[in-house]
Amino acid sequence: MASVTFDKATRRFAKMDRPAVRELDLEITDGEFMVLVGPSGCGKSTSLRMLAGLEEVDSGAILIDDQDVTGLPPKSRDIAMVFQNYALYPHMTVTDNMGFALKIAKMRRSDIGRRVEEAAAILDLGDYLARKPKSLSGGQRQRVAMGRAIVREPRVFLMDEPLSNLDAKLRVQTRTQIAALQRRLRTTTVYVTHDQVEALTMGDRVAVLKEGVLQQVGSPNEVFMRPANAFVGGFIGSPAMNQFRLPLTAQGTELGALPVRLPRATLLAAHEEGAAEIVLGVRPEQFDIVAAQDRETPGLDVVIDAVEDTGAVAYLHTTAKIGQELTEVVVRAAGRQVHSKGEHLRVALRQDAFHLFSAKTGLRLPTDATPS
Ligand code: ATP
Repeated sequence: MASVTFDKATRRFAKMDRPAVRELDLEITDGEFMVLVGPSGCGKSTSLRMLAGLEEVDSGAILIDDQDVTGLPPKSRDIAMVFQNYALYPHMTVTDNMGFALKIAKMRRSDIGRRVEEAAAILDLGDYLARKPKSLSGGQRQRVAMGRAIVREPRVFLMDEPLSNLDAKLRVQTRTQIAALQRRLRTTTVYVTHDQVEALTMGDRVAVLKEGVLQQVGSPNEVFMRPANAFVGGFIGSPAMNQFRLPLTAQGTELGALPVRLPRATLLAAHEEGAAEIVLGVRPEQFDIVAAQDRETPGLDVVIDAVEDTGAVAYLHTTAKIGQELTEVVVRAAGRQVHSKGEHLRVALRQDAFHLFSAKTGLRLPTDATPS
């Protein structure tokens, strides 16, 4: 078991106008499950590959425990990696695939046999040990790839989108199994995904990257409840947070005809930056639908363009006039209700149920003071 430190780790590729990973500072504690998440091209695989020793570090350092491993070859780092395509040897049985790295390391055959048996038991692969990969299902192959990592008893597990070849149902099952397995083994794990649901459900902490730059690191709850900036607010959460760029008024702002009072701390911070606008972030579930006959409650008038009914909940894709613009607003409603395309609705906003970001920098604005 070990801690992992990225210390201003940077990787540049020729022909790229920015570093693929820029001065990444990240500390992963002993036994932690850390998820690196972000959109395609944000640098998450490159970060993982730098830790694995498969990618050079142009500046900065990488430490495992207190050992600087920046210049060490992959085999001297005591890590095990699970790849997206599993990279199993097609001509070898499950037993041989799982034990191969130990054989190369010249471990005694009896010890290899014991470790493979233990891993097979943990992963429920006991019945498949004599089979070759081509006669296994995708989920079983995925487990063999996990087994191959486990038998090595490494200091750190690295996983690069290990579920992306599985169908949706199996992916959900397997993510629970991997998270449970990691909690049982307590091996420090760095896990890469572009899927924010995977990140939120599996990680002890989540590191969100954009264009090679770390945006925020925190528990799933922190990144969801207190996104550090508008990008994280928009990336974490599904469907995405609505974000409206609105003019500042003396009391706060206005969302269409709906006055929104802002905390004094927010107004002060926005005025300090000399901003005339603010970004208001509202998740689809933070709107309340006002009864159709209620014209008294202040709200935003919207028209439904499409209803996406998932059974338990429905997402209403609506349009509202905000300022001079027709703007898309996504609103969560109860599933199997009678909302339909073309319907006019009014939605209200609870006083504290929104996020506020600087229109200049995108950073989260303070909201600590009571509303003014
Ligand atoms: P994805 O989810 O699509 O795999 P990612 O977040 O893992 O994306 P990386 O694979 O780390 O992103 O790539 C980061 C950036 O570096 C991308 O713009 C990519 O094109 C570039 N890149 C990665 N590897 C190389 C390479 N060997 N040579 C040149 N550019 C590279």
